[in-house]
Amino acid sequence: MCVGRNYADHAKELGNQIPSEPVLFLKPNSAISGELRSNPAENLQFEGEISFVVREGALAGVGFGLDLTKRDLQRLLKEKGLPWERAKAFDGSAIFSEFVRLEGGVSDLRMTLDVNGETVQRGGCEDMIFQPQALLDEIAATFTLADGDIVMTGTPAGVDSFAAGDRLMGRVFDGTKLLSEGCWTAI
Ligand code: ZN
Repeated sequence: MCVGRNYADHAKELGNQIPSEPVLFLKPNSAISGELRSNPAENLQFEGEISFVVREGALAGVGFGLDLTKRDLQRLLKEKGLPWERAKAFDGSAIFSEFVRLEGGVSDLRMTLDVNGETVQRGGCEDMIFQPQALLDEIAATFTLADGDIVMTGTPAGVDSFAAGDRLMGRVFDGTKLLSEGCWTAI
């Protein structure tokens, strides 16, 4: 389950309004991949996101996720008022680091995404419009989440295109403590 426009700075960079309720969309299990595939024919962009794995209806683990997006296609679909799935839910569009057990609260969780050694995205729960538990409650009001389902909480500003050979390093921290990191070189 994915959330759009959950950071004001990212909503602004794409020219979207701040939502009054969470913008939700889905990726199927088949979207999850361990490989970061570039696609020169599409304007494929990365979105780094704090991601949670759900167990017994609660946020049980946290990791780093990449929500890959065919940005030009998404723009076209948005203009036409059509669903985003073709731009968001394709094979290989969801990539995750290892998840670690969520032991403390979520208030100090934050993420960074480095591309080729330079930090291009950073954000944390304190910057979110809707906090993780509020997102979970909102989702659960409409969708039953199974054990192992993942909630991606939206991306901060700094989304961009990537190409084969680019090296993406995503990290999730609790305060200054590194919880999980994933590193992928685009093929
Ligand atoms: Zn996203």
